[in-house]
Amino acid sequence: MQTNEFRAYAHKFVDWMADYFENIEQYPVKSQVNPGQIFNQLPDNPPETGESMDDIMDDFRQVILPGITHWQSPNFFAYFPANSSYPSVLAEMLTATLGTQCMIWETSPAAAELEEKMMNWLIKMLGLPDHLEGVIQDAASTATLAAILTAREKYSNYKINQSGFTGNSRLKVYCSSETHSSIEKAVKIAGFGRENLVKIEVDSEFKMQADQLAEKIKKDIDEGNKPVCVVATMGTTSTTAIDPLREIGEVCKKYNVWLHVDAAYAGTALILPEYRWMLEGIENVDSFVFNPHKWMFTNFDCSAYFIKDKEALIKTLEILPEYLKTRSRGGVNDYRDWGIPLGRRFRALKLWFVIRSFGISGLQEKIRYHVSLAQKLHKIIENDTSFEIMAPVPLNTVCFRYRPQQIKNREEINRLNEILLTQINKTGKLYLTHTKLHGNYVIRIVTAQTNVQEDHIVKAWDIIKETANGLID
Ligand SMILES: *Cc1c(COP(=O)(O)O)cnc(C)c1O
Repeated sequence: MQTNEFRAYAHKFVDWMADYFENIEQYPVKSQVNPGQIFNQLPDNPPETGESMDDIMDDFRQVILPGITHWQSPNFFAYFPANSSYPSVLAEMLTATLGTQCMIWETSPAAAELEEKMMNWLIKMLGLPDHLEGVIQDAASTATLAAILTAREKYSNYKINQSGFTGNSRLKVYCSSETHSSIEKAVKIAGFGRENLVKIEVDSEFKMQADQLAEKIKKDIDEGNKPVCVVATMGTTSTTAIDPLREIGEVCKKYNVWLHVDAAYAGTALILPEYRWMLEGIENVDSFVFNPHKWMFTNFDCSAYFIKDKEALIKTLEILPEYLKTRSRGGVNDYRDWGIPLGRRFRALKLWFVIRSFGISGLQEKIRYHVSLAQKLHKIIENDTSFEIMAPVPLNTVCFRYRPQQIKNREEINRLNEILLTQINKTGKLYLTHTKLHGNYVIRIVTAQTNVQEDHIVKAWDIIKETANGLID
């Protein structure tokens, strides 16, 4: 492809992109294809000679798009969002054009220095303590793995990195029964063994019970086990429960255990002063992760990881082969030592574009609006006798289920809600997902998509009710 062709197609594609965003509500939110349907339309062999961009784009439209679930649709209420926004997309175009690999300062000083500045901005925006230092990771899962590895190394005085696991005592990690699956994955990868992940029971609001944590840690010590790390969650994935940081932090301090906070989704709410209470006790936290790529309008991937003892992180992960030695080393941030992969995308650029384009007040306005939508919906569902609210709604995730008066059997109610969810998603008009709470099948609705408006919520609720009514008679 020549430059003039690139220019022409780029203009065409931008028009396609703008049309897509404008007409996004016309697509079924959840892709309606069957397994294999896309695969079978694709040729078995790659083309021998180059094809025209027009042909490739045609296939994108006809073959690929039907198999896309539209995460940027304002009718997307599933999981947690992976929000994008116009400034973020514009920045990604530049990132792809530069195609930089930002493994060390020298491979693009602007990337390293912009990243450092953006992390400082986020510390201020979220009200995090300024003794923390930040680095961008690809995902919260990776940041949590880095935290657990660093906790392990600090605990063992960097011996496990050197010699592997040699002792007989078991190293323990603690989290709640509502913690995200990425913690268990990190514990497996880090060599602790799944059996050594201790799940603490939650209270009636799905928060970790700090007194039970203290009991378990004490019991473990008495039995000769070694508590290494606690993971607290700010905004659990099922219900956005917020673990009590103050009490958990006191326990960690007492037993000298690393405290990591997984705020992957809910961290964004800290931009609102009225949610700063979630940070109470943050001074005892060793590391903290939140994802601008969820609720902060910065398209996937971009995860912000903050740490108190950055030297411990670097000591855990650094490697220095001859070909990566530079004269600037030590005087600058070589972020390849702050995470797991060597290669790094220039992710700070989209963060810079998003924060500057929205401004703090613009971000606050949107986030506050998203919370208000969920609070309104919460009231509506609460007042509907055929439905039931299944968890507190501290932020903008509402957990509910259909519960018609005439059905009493729990399994039957579960089955009914499972069918209801499938039917709703089949309409293509909105997309919801579920969870299980105390054995009950629960439908979640997350009002956080970048462009969601009250109107979308009203229509969504109408469809939910209508579909539910259709199930019974
Ligand atoms: C989404 C989520 C994660 C995983 O985030 P990734 O960036 O996809 O790894 C972890 N913890 C919580 C609480 C989450 O909501």
